[in-house]
Amino acid sequence: MTEKVPTPEELAERKMRFLFTLRSRGVTDARTLGAMEKVDRGVFVTGLFADRAYEDMPLPISCGQTISQPSVVGLMTQALNVQPRDKVLEVGTGSGYQAAVLSHLARRVYTVDRHATLVREARKVFDAMDLTNVTAFTADGSRGLPKQAPFDRILVSAAAEDPPGPLMAELRVGGIMVLPVGQSDAVQSLIKVTRTETGYDYEELRPVRFVPLLEGLGSE
Ligand code: SAH
Repeated sequence: MTEKVPTPEELAERKMRFLFTLRSRGVTDARTLGAMEKVDRGVFVTGLFADRAYEDMPLPISCGQTISQPSVVGLMTQALNVQPRDKVLEVGTGSGYQAAVLSHLARRVYTVDRHATLVREARKVFDAMDLTNVTAFTADGSRGLPKQAPFDRILVSAAAEDPPGPLMAELRVGGIMVLPVGQSDAVQSLIKVTRTETGYDYEELRPVRFVPLLEGLGSE
């Protein structure tokens, strides 16, 4: 089977359609759209589903995990309101797509996944894309990343029943964390936690559905 190479016109049209869909689903922040325009999602989706990479849907990746839906990546990124000097932690590297988007907005991105295979694959893509400000580790992110803490921003790409205590503690005062919370087999809520001088403010953003945040390391 020969693969059809898209013409420059087809590539431009595909990108325009991708960005149009994001906008129509509520991703309106110019910096977020700019970052998403720079990251080709097709690079992160391989195998059977590669030709669906530009559609607004989650897709299967290795280790039984999923790459998130682009509009959800966009909505989470825009809620995180990343500033150019920020140090960001992402929990749940998966394919690396979300981390790559964040790398265009932040000074430094640390991303962790409990599956070593996913971390290895994501590192290869970061290198190929020359994203030098992203570092991926194999770790249980529900325990935070003490060596690199505190963080200005934390984005969690897997759902816990409650915001994990170590992540709350590693958020700088004035910092923001965006994460899905709720039972893994039900619809979860995307929430935004802002750390204040005296505690934490919570805002509920929208219903979402993510794979569960699991404790310990994965077997592959
Ligand atoms: N952000 C990813 C999608 C992540 S899917 C992307 O852009 O492609 C959720 C990921 O969270 C999975 O890869 C899963 O292995 C990981 N995960 C689940 N529990 C975890 C934990 N405790 N620590 C680190 N990663 C975890």
